[in-house]
Amino acid sequence: MKRRALGFVALACGAVLNCADVRPSMAWGDDGHKVVALVAQSFLEPDVRKRVNALLAADTDTLTAHDIASAATWADKYRDANIDNSRERTRQWHFVDIEIRNADLDSACFNHPAIPTGTPASDGPASDCVVDKILQFTVELADPATDAEERVAALKFLLHFIGDVHQPLHSSDDDDQGGNKKRVSASGFAAGNLHHFWDTEFVDQLGGDPKTIASDLIGHITKEQQTEWQSGGPADWAKETFAVSKSDAYGLLPPAGAHGNFRLTDDYVTAAANDVAIQLSRAGVRLAMVLSQALRKP
Ligand SMILES: [Zn+2]
Repeated sequence: MKRRALGFVALACGAVLNCADVRPSMAWGDDGHKVVALVAQSFLEPDVRKRVNALLAADTDTLTAHDIASAATWADKYRDANIDNSRERTRQWHFVDIEIRNADLDSACFNHPAIPTGTPASDGPASDCVVDKILQFTVELADPATDAEERVAALKFLLHFIGDVHQPLHSSDDDDQGGNKKRVSASGFAAGNLHHFWDTEFVDQLGGDPKTIASDLIGHITKEQQTEWQSGGPADWAKETFAVSKSDAYGLLPPAGAHGNFRLTDDYVTAAANDVAIQLSRAGVRLAMVLSQALRKP
């Protein structure tokens, strides 16, 4: 991927965004998740794509539309709708809080709690991490014997969680709730917290709607990157994302100013937008790989 020029990055706020609209930040915003799904879709073989679309078309849930991009936002809507206590039951599945000062994936994953035999992954323990949930839902999606409703849920959780594990502040923590407790500002942006900037503001820096962003990213993904990224599993991806967070999301932060606030420089914003472009691209390529492995006919 080519590094983007600063000029490209400078325009977002004010022209297309309502900068006062600072949403509560829990994950890539909807746009980030849609971009990941659209990038993935472009790498799916036709028969796998057909199977994904057929599973989604049969879904009777009404929280989102059933196209792949909308379905990738479902896990957030499901959590926020608090269906059967889904807020508490699924909230922690969206991240893995690997501590910057004491990186330990296993403890960030609550030491990988087992799911009792016969229990669907969507009814698994609340204290579990995004890495484990990706593995569990992949198994369910690949197994044609999985209950039909659970299989659709598994697909929708995967569409979303493979995005989340690539969001730097979903795979790291500085004792600040993944950046939620760090107040930041930057020229041309409404002040918000660091997590929100990575969820939403830096995605918006890539310009346009999810379709436009996705096709721009797809056009820059080289064959070599594709091959390089199609390896490892969610634990490796979480560690890679953690490294991006340690070096850039937290590592490039200027010293805190008065009242503990951080003033992001233009260079920080540029580096972050570049990181987001790469992370969304990696997530899309890997989502396509997971879906292909699960749904490709032998
Ligand atoms: Zn999420």
